[in-house]
Amino acid sequence: MLYKSTRGKGKVVKASEAIIRGIGEDGGLYVPQEFPKITKSFDELGKMSYQELAFYIMKKFFNDFSDDELKECIHKAYDEKFEDPSIAPLAYKAGAHFLELYHGRTLAFKDMALSILPHLLKTAANKLGITKEIVILTATSGDTGKAALEGFANVDGTKIVVFYPKDGVSEIQRRQMTTQEGDNTFVVGIEGNFDDAQSGVKEIFGDAEFNEFLNEKGFMFSSANSINIGRLVPQIVYYVYSYANLLKEKQVKDGESMNVVVPTGNFGNILAAYYAKIMGVPIGKFICASNENKVLTDFINTGVYDRKREFFVTNSPSMDILISSNLERFLYEISGGNAELINALMEQLKTEGKYEITEDMKEKLKVLYGGFATEDETLAAVKKVYDTASYVIDTHTAVAYDVYEQYKKNTGDESVTVIASTASPFKFPRSINDVLNFADSTASDFEMVEELSKKFDIKIPKGIQGLDKKEIRHEATCKKDEMREIIKKFLKV
Ligand SMILES: *Cc1c(COP(=O)(O)O)cnc(C)c1O
Repeated sequence: MLYKSTRGKGKVVKASEAIIRGIGEDGGLYVPQEFPKITKSFDELGKMSYQELAFYIMKKFFNDFSDDELKECIHKAYDEKFEDPSIAPLAYKAGAHFLELYHGRTLAFKDMALSILPHLLKTAANKLGITKEIVILTATSGDTGKAALEGFANVDGTKIVVFYPKDGVSEIQRRQMTTQEGDNTFVVGIEGNFDDAQSGVKEIFGDAEFNEFLNEKGFMFSSANSINIGRLVPQIVYYVYSYANLLKEKQVKDGESMNVVVPTGNFGNILAAYYAKIMGVPIGKFICASNENKVLTDFINTGVYDRKREFFVTNSPSMDILISSNLERFLYEISGGNAELINALMEQLKTEGKYEITEDMKEKLKVLYGGFATEDETLAAVKKVYDTASYVIDTHTAVAYDVYEQYKKNTGDESVTVIASTASPFKFPRSINDVLNFADSTASDFEMVEELSKKFDIKIPKGIQGLDKKEIRHEATCKKDEMREIIKKFLKV
């Protein structure tokens, strides 16, 4: 199994190299030269534990890892850190199967991939004979940073530095990060917004002189970004797992297809579902749900991707994004692997802020259905699911539910449907309180968590229990132009 870049230049690499590099030499994303197929029956797959299935799927992609190496990565990642022993349980509520991807430490689906990525990176580095200490640099708007910190904390041979906008994250998100344990972790609040943090990190990655300086001191930068193939492949597993379990529970007949609905930002999660289909999982429609930043809805409906538009801060903040990086991999597939074309489209996106795909690609694009939910529609969906099924969902999942309802109304398609439930309602209690009214609006986020638990009789997830009382271990803040200095201080160079 070898990986090539979507932009066709750079060399073909093994899995371990693709994981270490993160991005192709030509700026493209790594994709498998050829997709592996699922050769066992779904009956057989349904008998496997999550970890066994993860091994079966991931081994096909990471075949330069030995069985033992890969099993070790999987067992270190998917253990008691997940509060549900089945790791990714399905809950049938209000007419759909909710795939709960938020039972990891940080209460969002990013844990599914970021709990294994550090182990994959470490193993890959060993295989390639890299002896330098890996330093992960991440800019976060809230969710990714904490999931990466939890993943990398105390992983030998790695250090992690996370920059977040000092005043741009929720109270819970900030506490989750500033109380992070592990001597190899470092968290810094930037005086600026997420874009300042993000562009600062990008500049550091591109700063040859600084990279060389750190190289001489025994360090090597890497990223936990969602375009890393080591983050994407672990996400395929739970779509295969869902289908096998629906079959086992007799919710689908063998061969009958299911639809999936995914609340989408960077297009990573929904792409993993598409890859599952290429491997053999019977999936009918991919319903791509957006919030008011509906660049993907417009793209799916017109074939024109246009990022030149107003940016909205919404009540589903993890989907507030105008450039969906992983879409490039999907375009590559529906263009039949036409790297030259992808190169041209991405160049247009950079220079003109928009591009239009070919008629042939528009035809293939029909496998996606695109829709969006406004903030009010999102909250109405939270309320509706609660009123119908006494089931509390978060705002991101609610965006998906609303678009799913629109889809059914517009198409009459009543196929069995899995909705990716990407965050726990405990992660963004303030928004859902607007419609579920469990706490006084003047209460702190922590008080809201308590009230939410009491009113609906749901246990507070371990990841945030006692969070308000935990010791603050990271108080550093800096200006954007001080990022290099603060990294040097942390690395003691
Ligand atoms: C990251 C995130 C998303 C978006 O996932 P993508 O893979 O970027 O499309 C949706 N919901 C939540 C809660 C997230 O943290």
